[in-house]
Amino acid sequence: MKMYESPRPIGDYLDKELDCPCGRRHYVPIKQVEIGPGALNKLPEAVRRLGYKRPWLLCDPITWKVAGERCQSLLREAGIEATAHILENLGFDESTLGEIVINLPADCDLMIGVGTGSITDMTRYSSFKLRLPCFTVATGAPMDGFAASIGILNVKGLKATLPAHSTQVIIGDTDILKGAPPRMTVAGFGDLIGKISCLNDWELARIINAEHYCAPIVALVRSCLDKVLSQTEKLENREPEALGLVMEGLVCSGAAISLYGNSRPASGAEHHLSHYWETIGEQRGTPFAMHGEQVAVGTGLVLSLAEALLEEEVDFGAAREAARRYDPAAWAREMERAYGPAAPEVLRMEAEADKNGTEGRLRRIDSMEKNWAAVRAQLKTLPSATWLRELLRRLGCPALPGDIGIDRTLLKDSLMVCKEIRPRYTIFQTVWDLGLLDKLSDRVIEKMD
Ligand SMILES: [Zn+2]
Ligand SMILES: [Zn+2]
Repeated sequence: MKMYESPRPIGDYLDKELDCPCGRRHYVPIKQVEIGPGALNKLPEAVRRLGYKRPWLLCDPITWKVAGERCQSLLREAGIEATAHILENLGFDESTLGEIVINLPADCDLMIGVGTGSITDMTRYSSFKLRLPCFTVATGAPMDGFAASIGILNVKGLKATLPAHSTQVIIGDTDILKGAPPRMTVAGFGDLIGKISCLNDWELARIINAEHYCAPIVALVRSCLDKVLSQTEKLENREPEALGLVMEGLVCSGAAISLYGNSRPASGAEHHLSHYWETIGEQRGTPFAMHGEQVAVGTGLVLSLAEALLEEEVDFGAAREAARRYDPAAWAREMERAYGPAAPEVLRMEAEADKNGTEGRLRRIDSMEKNWAAVRAQLKTLPSATWLRELLRRLGCPALPGDIGIDRTLLKDSLMVCKEIRPRYTIFQTVWDLGLLDKLSDRVIEKMD
């Protein structure tokens, strides 16, 4: 089939091979997504349609009450012999995995994870290892991991991202989602609002580096975001329709990752900031905030940085000087200071990616000089940081770094080094290449006051 040029409902993208004008073939292995009021009632039909007979529900004590119990009775009323297990080990680690294997019924042919991130990740991972299919019933939507094909769990006390498979069916019943803690919904919105920044990074990468780009996927992600942005008043009032749009947006951006084959459509500079804070939070033993909250704050910083860049009279000659002065040993010492125990991984990644090397940087500076009007035009499409922060405030989401416990010193480090956490090209690399990251980071921080 041909890839749709303009965005369609998410269901149209599922389980179909789509040949795209971008030159790639896109595929999402998810078979069904049901989001809306009463969506849970579609569970028995989905189980039956895909030919499963002995589903096993995995819950924690809370998600059992919120949705698990109803899933089981709906399935049983439909004549499907469903069993359930309420997890006792909630560390989402080796013990949880052991508990799942020990309790798995011998005749189970489908695992259904009922919950948010941790349970659904664990279900995806354990079902993958046990060679069983899985479904997801969401009780909250704090981030865009539902459509992912990875499993995140704690191994030897450290968070590990392990290969898994995609869930076959995602159910987001808005009657259930509206009962989720408000903070969770707001965090989900935060993860979604980050697409403003990550799509901007993709455009910059296309203009400056001629990076591969898929216009239909960009249009799809943007349409999910725009739908939510048109309903923020309803979101303030926690109306189910708006909650459904957030859930749909998160599933859609997860599906976009799957369609494209990597996280380019859903993760950029704002996620690099969040990943950096996560790394530092782990080292300090306390997380700063939920993933989506960090992404929201990060998006505000990216918008401020874009504004600072637009205000700057860029001197390409000075940028070339800065590129020639680059001192990799000094850079490595800086990484050791800012990343601490995580520095070796950062150094290893740079040794492979060489995104800071002078030769590549000079090439990018040439390209920027040639395409500077296009770069500026792209940056001008972004909304203002003030607009975003006011919106976040209205929704009760952290908006400034200080709101999530990030002080000025850590903020400066974050802006200076977060780009080193992944090899992906973002606006931070644009500004760093120009030799302006130090100066413009200070300007971003000044504007916080
Ligand atoms: Zn995210
Ligand atoms: Zn494409």
